[in-house]
Amino acid sequence: MTGRGENHVDRALLLTFDDRHVREWAAAAPLFTSYGARVTFFICEPDRLDRDDVRLLRRLADDGHTIGCHGLRHERAPEFIAAHGPGAYLDQEVMPALEELRRLGFPARSFAYPCSARDESTDRLLLALFERLRGGVSADRRADPSLAAELHVPAGAIATRRVLPGCSVDSGRGAVAYGDDLTGVEAALRRTADDGGVTTLYAHCIADAHASNHVAPARLEKLLALADGMSLPCVGFNELP
Ligand SMILES: [Zn+2]
Repeated sequence: MTGRGENHVDRALLLTFDDRHVREWAAAAPLFTSYGARVTFFICEPDRLDRDDVRLLRRLADDGHTIGCHGLRHERAPEFIAAHGPGAYLDQEVMPALEELRRLGFPARSFAYPCSARDESTDRLLLALFERLRGGVSADRRADPSLAAELHVPAGAIATRRVLPGCSVDSGRGAVAYGDDLTGVEAALRRTADDGGVTTLYAHCIADAHASNHVAPARLEKLLALADGMSLPCVGFNELP
């Protein structure tokens, strides 16, 4: 891996995966490799990773993927802070997750908000601990071409924009299938490829069917092929300048 000062990313797709679906992620590793793609895995409940999960996550990190933090118990930041205060949020939800990840050999430099729940005060609090935070835009906007304006971060802002909005590309959850129309996501990728900058997307498990939110491998490959066809590199959060 290159050091921060050597990074010259001027355009990229930031593809991210949340929660703790390490086995399914590891099974998709050859797909990422075939497109030269590096992605970011945001881990919650790191204390509940078993020995195999840790081994597979180590392999993903060795492949150049970024490992980030997604909280200890997947608490929604604004609600937890409203109920218990910012100190308790850091002490109970963030620091134990960071420390456990570090203990396992994954020093996390970025954080994805559970359920994309955030506000300016949570940003201020967490930016003292992390280089970057990932939020989210409403998933029901992903069919809307104007999503590109909301999702795309211009090239000149990559180094300084520390809270990145993401959009879900999940295929479904349990028996519920989400829409297949990703027009807004595709428009954001096109703008990023043409103008430079970054676009951030997120999904969860990688599977054709799963009780949790999941993206089908075929959809994932379609997105990787689309970015590849636009000569848009797919990189992890740790590769950003
Ligand atoms: Zn999550």
